[in-house]
Amino acid sequence: MFFERFRTDFRSLRFRLMMWNALAVFVTGFAILLIVRAGMGYILRYDLERVLSEDLDEIALNLREERGLDFERLHRELDRKARGHAYHQWFVVFLDRAGEVVWSSTGAPPLPKLDTESKTTTYSTVGDYRLACRELDGTRERAPVVCVGSSLGFIQREMAVVDRLAIVVAGFLLIASPVGGYILAGRATQPLAQMMQTTARLRPTEMHERLKIRGTQDELDRLAITVNGLLDRLAAYLKQKHDFLANAAHELRTPLSAIRSSVEVALSGDRTVDEYNELLAEVIDECSSLETLVNQLLLLAETDAERPTVMDANLRLDSIVTRAAEMFQGVAEFNGVRLRVEPLPCVIVNGNRHYLRQVLSNLIDNAIKFTASRYQLLASQGITSKRGEVTISMDRDNVHNRAQLIIEDNGPGIGPEDLPFIFDRFYRVDRSRMRGTSTGGTGLGLSICQAIIQTHQGTIEASSTIDEGTRFVITLPLTAVPAEPPALV
Ligand code: ADP
Repeated sequence: MFFERFRTDFRSLRFRLMMWNALAVFVTGFAILLIVRAGMGYILRYDLERVLSEDLDEIALNLREERGLDFERLHRELDRKARGHAYHQWFVVFLDRAGEVVWSSTGAPPLPKLDTESKTTTYSTVGDYRLACRELDGTRERAPVVCVGSSLGFIQREMAVVDRLAIVVAGFLLIASPVGGYILAGRATQPLAQMMQTTARLRPTEMHERLKIRGTQDELDRLAITVNGLLDRLAAYLKQKHDFLANAAHELRTPLSAIRSSVEVALSGDRTVDEYNELLAEVIDECSSLETLVNQLLLLAETDAERPTVMDANLRLDSIVTRAAEMFQGVAEFNGVRLRVEPLPCVIVNGNRHYLRQVLSNLIDNAIKFTASRYQLLASQGITSKRGEVTISMDRDNVHNRAQLIIEDNGPGIGPEDLPFIFDRFYRVDRSRMRGTSTGGTGLGLSICQAIIQTHQGTIEASSTIDEGTRFVITLPLTAVPAEPPALV
């Protein structure tokens, strides 16, 4: 149990942060101690050299000011001073030009032959002693060089104190930095633990909870905002899927119940051949509705899967539009609607021929269907004898490298309260004035158009005015026009 806990802790971010923190503190602390130690050593030596140099100055001054000085007296004075500075093992020696010691004060260590060439003060370390030597001008011929020295032992003793202090501080850091690091890392990772608890509570059915934003605007706050954004999108997506499934089931149920009741009626007693034919025709009708719906659902699933759509390069959009318009000419005439195609420029796009035909079919079919229903209604009420009209036109915008395909009608129009939703799945405009007309659809047509156009990196927009008509504008990116446009297909 403890081992498991330790293993989990061992891999935890908190543990790693603690280790890194401890390492950083320890290394920094240790480096600072080393720098302080080196600095102190340097200062103590520098100080010692300064004192030795001052002593040399003093001796030189004495010799210069008191010409004919009694050297016996000077030696006595220097001896006394040497005894007074016994702690530092301070001493003076006079050397001849060959570097041999001529006189030395009490406590002076035996010195090897020294190099005495310099007029300025020179420093050297001999054994455990630091020496400062200088040639004195105009003094005694026999001993023109004077050296003042002091033991380095006291520096070593003071450095040893520093070392002991450093060991204590390093030991303290070794213990305190992981402990402090563990506490600090615990505080830093606490919001992460809260985030984990909250996200662990989230379920597809319970997506309302969100991560707490502490307002510190640090990385964890920004992470919480990002995760909350993701959760919002996920919740919206799940709701959309749920609604889609519920709507699809509902839409499938209607034709299925109709089929079932037709069959039940057929089986409930003996019928004439005409009655059977009528019932079977109803069944076939419902089956085609079912087929249309299932095909649309499959198409939506395909575009939803976000698989890259297979594109036919260099597609003549104008030819697809012409073919679609030709296909609907008969339906339009049958419904008393005039279907007009304005002269189309040559437009070449990268696209999926099958998908683009689907979009055109949906839009032209809607335009004819709704326009016809309006004029049939008006004619039946004797209000107008005019015909409905659907116009298809296309622009090639070479500046922005795009094509605009416009499908316009003078049908019933869509109210501003419905217009923002017509691209939603299963959305149908339910208006009383449509009653009695045969415009019933699945409400999937426009959402399929939008999904297809989006896979082509294009846009589809609708504008409409009640009783005046509706206009759909599709914008698609052009491909570079080849020298020889592809043949019409
Ligand atoms: P449906 O399959 O029901 O036609 P769509 O997604 O194609 O579904 O259209 C959604 C709704 O938008 C339709 O129910 C209809 O009310 C409205 N609509 C679409 N095109 C037109 C149009 N040209 N004129 C008037 N209303 C339209």
